[in-house]
This record gives sequence, structure tokens and C-alpha cells, in this order.
Amino acid sequence: MRTASRYGTTVRMFTAIGVVSLVAACAGNGGTGAGGPSGGGFPDQSITIVVPFSAGGPTDTVTRMIAEPMAAKLGAKIVVQNVEGAGGTVGAGEVARAEPDGYTVLMHHIGMSTAPALYQNLGFKPLEDFQTVGLVTEVPMTVVARKDFAPATLQDLVTHVKANADKVTLANAGIGAASHLCGLLFQTAAGVKVQEVPYEGTGPALTDLVGGQVDFMCDQTTNTSGQISAGEVKAYAVTTPERVKSLPDVPTTAEAGLPKLEVSVWHGLYVPTGTPQDIVQKLSEALKVALADQKVVDQMAKLGTAPVPAGDATPQAHRTKLEEQLGVWAKVIADAGVKAS
Ligand code: ASP
Repeated sequence: MRTASRYGTTVRMFTAIGVVSLVAACAGNGGTGAGGPSGGGFPDQSITIVVPFSAGGPTDTVTRMIAEPMAAKLGAKIVVQNVEGAGGTVGAGEVARAEPDGYTVLMHHIGMSTAPALYQNLGFKPLEDFQTVGLVTEVPMTVVARKDFAPATLQDLVTHVKANADKVTLANAGIGAASHLCGLLFQTAAGVKVQEVPYEGTGPALTDLVGGQVDFMCDQTTNTSGQISAGEVKAYAVTTPERVKSLPDVPTTAEAGLPKLEVSVWHGLYVPTGTPQDIVQKLSEALKVALADQKVVDQMAKLGTAPVPAGDATPQAHRTKLEEQLGVWAKVIADAGVKAS
């Protein structure tokens, strides 16, 4: 891979962001950014999956879950590499510029569809520079706080942040990260604005939350479930219409009084445009096998999520989802006037 460039993360302007569900249907066919015709004996060396956030966070966790069964299916070693920074755009940029040979793969989430509207100098174009491989999972989020934070319920949290907006801190994983978007939705739904503290992933953000260095954050159940169950953080709500089976005592945002805060986070695998189609197909087949693996299904269920249906672990379904989400977020972000520079 070539060297990554850095993108700034300063919010230049902030206004309220419109409430929107991050969930959308995955259906139909789309273009696939087709590459060359043949990948020969792929794979004959190890494959790197780039995670554009810190080790130990939710994107990293899901990637490591599927890496082993994918490697078994492909008959090659898979290395997971964390290339964090700027809400996932640094790692994504590296993969966009990598050799299109199937040996460098990106795991990214909803941030792929928000980045073009947020970053002026992004350095890549999602639909032009990437070939979609397949969707992976769609993960509920949770609103969590340090365990000794005063508010007891989501409504108390709203009241508390309104009264203490200059003191309360909200962690996120950088502009365009799922935690950032969910935090914006929270602030809009609650009608407040608080201080945001960016990290390079919500793995380290959660460590600081447990340690009491920040007050609260939104993050995916794939990162927060263990700490919620162990009582290491306080959980106010899950951001899906239904409760999450593995967190039966945590109310939904609708039950807790903020029905407009509804968010779940879709993930997918990408390779650089120009990757031969039979290699893309091999990766997609391996993804499907991994998502059907009972161990993966069980691990995901324990962390409050599930693999996408097999039909969505395809380049076409993933491309359709990306196109649709790019449109949704371009509008929401333009309306909100949020920018990273
Ligand atoms: N998924 C997290 C977020 O977007 C980042 C991470 O995986 O660490 O907030």
C-alpha cells in the first residue's frame, strides 16, 4: 500500500442535523466497478483487511470474527491491519490507492457513505475508487455513559446535558464515524449541543469511558455489550426499534423517550477498483461462507447483531446500498452544514 495522507478533523460549522434512520433496504442490482477479467491463482499470498479504526473497537471486532473463516475458505492467511484516523478516511484512502489485486481489502461501515459530504479533500471517491465485495452486518448502537455519571435514564441525560452543556463531554471516533453521527442525532433529538471528544476509534473511547475520562457516547453493541453486561458502563438505550436480545434490560430510544434517535450501522468489504472480477467473486464467496459459520453467528448474537442475509453479501447488493446511502447522507449533511476540513 502507498503511504496514507492525513485529513483534518476540525468541525468548521455545526448546526442541527436532521434525524434519519441509518438503516435502509438492500435490494436490487447496481454497477460493480468491474476490474480486469482474471485473477489467476488468487490467493497465493496473505491478504490484508484494513480496518480504518483502532484495534479493539467494533469495526475491528467484526473484522476479526470473519477473518478466520474467510481465510479457511480462501486457503490463505488474512492479516487484519488497523489504519486509523479522521473518522475512517485515512484507512479507506490507503486501500483506494492500493494495488487492485485482491490482497488489500477494506472493512468499512456507514462512514463510507458520509465521508464525501463531510470531507472536502477526501482523496477518494467511494463509487469510483472502490469495488464493493459484500455487506457484512448491520449493528444496533447504544447510548452509554461512565457508570458514575449522574443521569439515571435517557430523559435524565437530556435534562442534565441541557443544564450542563459546557461541562459534559461526548466521545466519538472522528468526523463521519458512526459514533459521531449518532452523537449528532442525539444532540438534535435532545435539542442540545455538547463538547465532542474525538478518538481514532471507539475502542480507546470506551476505555476512557470506563475510566471516567469522558461522560458519555454512542457506540455499537459489538463494542459496548461486554461492559454493559458487566456493569462497567451505564446503558441508557439501544437505538433500534426493537430491544436487542442480548441486552434485554436496556430500553429502546423510543421507550426511553427519544424515538427519533434511531440508528444502526451497516458494514461492508471493499477492494480497489480494477480488481479482477473473479477475485472479487472469490472474496464475496468467502464472505458468505464466513457469515454462515455458526461460530460467527453465535459471536455476533452475543454482541447484539447478526450477519446480513446471504443475498446481501454480494457486490451488487452492497453497491446498491452504498449508492442509496450516499444520496441520503449528502442531503442530511448538506442540510446540517457539518464539515470536516
Ligand atoms: N465504529 C466506530 C465508530 O464509527 C469506530 C470504531 O470501529 O472504532 O464510531
